Amino acid sequence: MVQSKVTIVGAGIVGACIARCLGKAGHDVVLVDRNDPGSGCSFGNSGAILSLSASTQLPGPRLLAQIPGMLLDRNAPLVLRWRHLPGLMPWLAAFVAGCREQRQVETARAMATLLSDTTGAYDRLLKGSPADALIRRNGTLGLSRTDEWFSGDSWRRELNASLGARMEEVSREELDQMEPSLSSSVVRAMYYPDAYSTLDPAGLTQQIVRDTLAEGGQFVQAEVRDISVENGKPTALVTDKGEMTVDRLIVAAGAYSHQVARKMGIRVLLNTERGYHVDLDGTATGLQRVLLHGEHALAINPRPNGLRIAGTVEFASLDAPPDYRRARALWNKGREVLKETCDSEPPSMSFWMGRRPTLPDYRPVIGPAPGLKNCWFAFGHQHLGMSLAARTGEIVADLVADRDPGVNLAPFRANRF
Ligand SMILES: Cc1cc2nc3c(=O)[nH]c(=O)nc-3n(C[C@H](O)[C@H](O)[C@H](O)COP(=O)(O)OP(=O)(O)OC[C@H]3O[C@@H](n4cnc5c(N)ncnc54)[C@H](O)[C@@H]3O)c2cc1C
Repeated sequence: MVQSKVTIVGAGIVGACIARCLGKAGHDVVLVDRNDPGSGCSFGNSGAILSLSASTQLPGPRLLAQIPGMLLDRNAPLVLRWRHLPGLMPWLAAFVAGCREQRQVETARAMATLLSDTTGAYDRLLKGSPADALIRRNGTLGLSRTDEWFSGDSWRRELNASLGARMEEVSREELDQMEPSLSSSVVRAMYYPDAYSTLDPAGLTQQIVRDTLAEGGQFVQAEVRDISVENGKPTALVTDKGEMTVDRLIVAAGAYSHQVARKMGIRVLLNTERGYHVDLDGTATGLQRVLLHGEHALAINPRPNGLRIAGTVEFASLDAPPDYRRARALWNKGREVLKETCDSEPPSMSFWMGRRPTLPDYRPVIGPAPGLKNCWFAFGHQHLGMSLAARTGEIVADLVADRDPGVNLAPFRANRF
């Protein structure tokens, strides 16, 4: 039974999960992307699928105090490429204005309403799919190399715990049993049992798209260049491959979503936090799960034939060329965590840069497009798009069906800035 035709712009993990949820609900789904599915930011991320332990977001007074020092250090986990400052100013001004304690707590509470069922949403979405084999259900470990850092981060753990996050400190002996390949540079560790991870973020995204197509969905490779709006509704996408009529439209175009929204006359204060990865092929570590290293702002994901080290935040324009020295630096920082990889260069390394879609308050946009009928937005998932995608898909499917998603979407409205 076809309920309605829904077109989704963007076949990253967010668009893929939305398409799958809508397809399951009986809608006729058309996914549109200028590139292959899963080749944007969803391609090379760290693969952690986090839940309530990720409720607290970066903007806050503590980060604000650290920023001046970071901006002077080229190797800091957060860098600004100064040449791009003028274009970044409106976003940065809103970011700085939001770095208040009360705002940080409000955002954490709002994010918890999305994060409380991230893993359950993947269980439901992937039931019966070969993609389920790409999920590890064994938690994550948060690592610290100094007691000072670990203690200094306790406020964040406490805020997350007050929102329901489960976590336990792990002694060095327990850590050696869980992950024997960790080096002595790790002095404190927390275990987050509720997290999942994927060993292949791109493969997961692509398999979800294949599942959608297998049940009648369509994928159209085309770049959306304009959108016709009539009587307050989007009616057609103008693409490089011609015009496509639309009935209901979802914008899930990651870091480019503001450009797509602008075609319908809607301004959204979206920017990109660029991040990097280095993939080390042929590096066998025996690691069982994703490791999150707060001090170095990186994550380590053991992959079937190697290892991925990913992270850092770089502010520059959307189309600025990558600076792969940052990816290389990830290897230098990540190697200290692992015994086996410390001694020598790995046999092969590949570098990647991805654009996280981020609003100044680090809340995504999920909900109706302001002032339009038959159009919804789902983007701005920042560092948590892999984690939040399946849950976002369920929420959007509820909105399209005019059902209450059971989540207060007011904190996530597009026109809050
Ligand atoms: C280094 C790094 C590590 C990360 N680690 C994690 C992690 O461990 N856990 C986690 O939860 N998140 C993580 N993230 C964040 C996560 O990767 C993103 O939030 C997520 O991939 C965003 O997904 P998306 O579908 O919104 O965007 P994308 O994957 O970028 O997809 C958007 C798609 O829209 C298409 N598009 C854009 N404009 C147009 C147009 N005009 N016409 C047609 N198509 C268009 C693009 O081609 C693209 O395919 C990480 C990010 C980085 C950079």
